[in-house]
Amino acid sequence: MLTWPAPHVPRLPGEGPVVRVHDSSTGLLVPASSGPTATLYVCGITPYDATHLGHAATAVAFDVLNRAWRDSGLSVRFASNVTDVDDPLLERAAATGVDWRSLADDQIALYAEDMTALGVIPPDVYRGVVEVLPDVVVAVEALLEAGAAYRVPTPDAVDDGTGLGDVYADLTADHDFGAVAGLDRDTMLALSAERGGDPERPGKRDPLDPLLWRRERAGEPAWDGGTLGRGRPGWHIECAVIARDGLGLPFDVQGGGSDLLFPHHEMSTSHARLLDAGHGARVHVHAGMVGLDGEKMSKSRGNLVLVSTLRDQGEDPMAIRLALLAHRYRHDWEWSADQLAQARARLASWRRAVSGNGGPDATATLSAVRAAVAEDLDTPMALHAVDDWAARAVHGAEEPVEGAPGVVARAVDALLGVRL
Ligand code: ZN
Repeated sequence: MLTWPAPHVPRLPGEGPVVRVHDSSTGLLVPASSGPTATLYVCGITPYDATHLGHAATAVAFDVLNRAWRDSGLSVRFASNVTDVDDPLLERAAATGVDWRSLADDQIALYAEDMTALGVIPPDVYRGVVEVLPDVVVAVEALLEAGAAYRVPTPDAVDDGTGLGDVYADLTADHDFGAVAGLDRDTMLALSAERGGDPERPGKRDPLDPLLWRRERAGEPAWDGGTLGRGRPGWHIECAVIARDGLGLPFDVQGGGSDLLFPHHEMSTSHARLLDAGHGARVHVHAGMVGLDGEKMSKSRGNLVLVSTLRDQGEDPMAIRLALLAHRYRHDWEWSADQLAQARARLASWRRAVSGNGGPDATATLSAVRAAVAEDLDTPMALHAVDDWAARAVHGAEEPVEGAPGVVARAVDALLGVRL
């Protein structure tokens, strides 16, 4: 799948510190990478509704991680997916009378436009589920072979004479299951029902066991599944396979919104472990939810603020990005229009401050921005450091240093992704 154009990332003098992030599994602040090449997987969109600010906040948070890693001297390999066939997409297409493929294509294109506008560095590996179907089939066959998956009779499948059922993972095969989210069973059952699982499905060995392969149903798209029969993949196995093939296992950071911690990341990590001798993601990092009027912003609630709508209204995408960066990525927060006004004012003051060729010495500001983003992506702290420099620049009391505004502008661009 095609990505979007990569923004130019300016080089900065020196190197940033080691990047540390909050690990959702242990609650600890840990080094985000283990080697000279940092590896990142961020779960992508299901393309049935355009990029809302929750998606944008997650994408920008992990983009800051990507930039901080590069600044610390690491090379980065970044993989992501598009869930371009899944129940919510098919339901939306049916409800609106649109072909599911054209709905997906339109939304994938809009997401790429939004990411380009927001200056997000594109993934090195970007795969749609439909592209990796044969690899998913082989993985599910391997799990069946290993006794880590089983078939469930599926009387409502299209009758092709094979009598094959849907395939589910047997979670008892993974002794580490539960370690990612660390939740009690009742909470896991409730979240599974709420977030795409099917604990009520008859015939499963355990209500939490996740779907690996869904046999073809009348009116649903389906593909050749080899010994699995025609059908389509479950959600979690898709990310396990794309991460394994795109990054290798184990990889450094599994990222996404906090609503993906369970069941999605618990299950995809479990699948990855069983596919590759116990290896999954080393660290799990989650971005908070963005709310509007007291509720989580989500497609199902219909209370979305879309990046494309703000852009259509003439909003500078850099102001949108600054409004997102003003919040700690892992906290939940509420969107309001005045945050955009504040971001617009901040952007204007920074642009004014870097417009001359002399300004206050930028050495300490560069160090402060670097230290802030490297310490669990503390972007509000980084913005304050730039605000401070900009205020001093506009005040004009300090002996001007030639080239200092350029250093600040490049630091803001390279580390925060904000083009001045
Ligand atoms: Zn995923």
